[in-house]
Amino acid sequence: MPTHDITSSPGHEPSSAVRDFIDTDVHLMLIDGESVDSSSGHHIAAMSPSDGRELGAVPLANEADVDSAVTAARRAYDGPWRSMMPAERERLLRRVTDLIERNSDQLAEIESIDNGKPIGHTKAIDGPVATRLAANFAGWPTKISGDTPAVSIPGHFVYTLRQPVGVVGAIIPWNYPLIHTAQKIMPALACGNTIILKPSEKASLVSLRMAELFTEADLPPGVVNIITGDGATTGRALSQHPGIDKIAFTGSVASGRAVMRAAADTTKRLSLELGNKGANIIFADADLDAAVARSFVAAFGNTGQSCVAGSRLFVQSEVYSQVVDQLVRMASEARIGHALDPTTTIGPIVDRVQLDRIAGHIERAVADGATKRCGGDLLVAGDLGRGYFMGPTVFTDVDDSAAVACDEIFGPVVTVHRFDAEEEVVERANNTPFGLASAVWTTSVDRAHRMAAGLDTGVVWVNTFDMFDPAVPFGGMKGSGFGRDNGREVIDMYTEPKAVWVSTK
Ligand code: NAD
Repeated sequence: MPTHDITSSPGHEPSSAVRDFIDTDVHLMLIDGESVDSSSGHHIAAMSPSDGRELGAVPLANEADVDSAVTAARRAYDGPWRSMMPAERERLLRRVTDLIERNSDQLAEIESIDNGKPIGHTKAIDGPVATRLAANFAGWPTKISGDTPAVSIPGHFVYTLRQPVGVVGAIIPWNYPLIHTAQKIMPALACGNTIILKPSEKASLVSLRMAELFTEADLPPGVVNIITGDGATTGRALSQHPGIDKIAFTGSVASGRAVMRAAADTTKRLSLELGNKGANIIFADADLDAAVARSFVAAFGNTGQSCVAGSRLFVQSEVYSQVVDQLVRMASEARIGHALDPTTTIGPIVDRVQLDRIAGHIERAVADGATKRCGGDLLVAGDLGRGYFMGPTVFTDVDDSAAVACDEIFGPVVTVHRFDAEEEVVERANNTPFGLASAVWTTSVDRAHRMAAGLDTGVVWVNTFDMFDPAVPFGGMKGSGFGRDNGREVIDMYTEPKAVWVSTK
């Protein structure tokens, strides 16, 4: 039985500009500076996860549409964009940044309506982070430069040029579409590339609103193209198109592997930001109030639909029961509801497919012998009864090898494991094919640094969680992919170093 009251009324009225934007039968794509529908006339319905309301439809771009976008992007690359003076490119990107900042709340509202992330979160985090990303990468064009390697061959001088890779295809998931749109497009453009971005078919609207902002900023036509569609048709067509030089992909391991296979025949450059099964480790000497409060958000923030979710929580034996009890209490106090209700802390699951998938994981965990301490029920949203909700779910007595402790669930489910020794927990935390992010809570400085060195993940948080900044590289090790978003490392992802040898004899 449901243990929570579900708030089904929005509580927060979206602005009239957002209502006008949403109130459209077909949300058009951006190709070559024009707003266009799919050439086939096929569409995918957009839907609000909070109440099941239809939000119009987005075009299903096919191979011909992808081809138009690639032609436009190539023309823009060979034409104005690649040869534009860095300072001028920077000026245009600063204009984009200003527009994102000015429309931050509006973008946040659209994302909340379309993917169900609570409005408190999108306004405080997604909008401002997208602005910070844009601002950071807008400043890069005048700072990208080559090198003068110290060669040991007499009579030769060598320098390197950092040149753009060309036309980039970017494919992103539905859980952070606003941030991902800025995170992929801005560095690619800063490096002199042109781009075609495909958001997820489950949450495309905020990327399409961003398309309007790129147009308003007066970028030359074809520099940014935003097309919509699913993975099987549109994503696949992008991954195998011979006119695309690089695919920057964020999504699941299975789709990332499909992209690798599709991209192989045309030797595309790739960067893959994939899934995770994050270990979050609390030692008995930690500041427990801070550790548990943040671990709750780590597991259940964005309803667990986060690539860095702390979904495997390891707790040292001495404080295990205390931590579990505190988590269960916090779960019972969580406010589950409509994404537009400002009091909501846990919003809906993105759609029915994902909700059923999570429910399947929970059923299997129980069958495998795990103890469900709370949550796990499908909840119904008030009168509408059409939102996709599930309460925070805490499992104990879970074997490390159980499916619920190994598979990325991408929902509000955490398994809590007991451990005794530091070496033991490092080994158990690393015993996963994933390697994106992990966290450790301890007041011992020595241990903090030993743990940071020992955990096999691209990001380690110490006494904090889910911190993120455009200046810091973000990406995975092992099965979580390769390449990095953000930091100065991302510049390498969107440029080619060219070595020029000059005889000085
Ligand atoms: P998904 O893999 O189903 O879809 C991601 C994107 O790939 C979508 O745009 C989809 O249309 C497209 N796609 C699907 N199949 C494709 C194919 N064969 N060829 C080309 N494109 C294809 O993932 P999702 O359900 O949208 O998102 C959840 C996953 O994304 C989780 O695994 C999560 O961990 C991961 N993720 C990773 C990061 C990161 O930075 N590492 C960030 C967010 C989400």
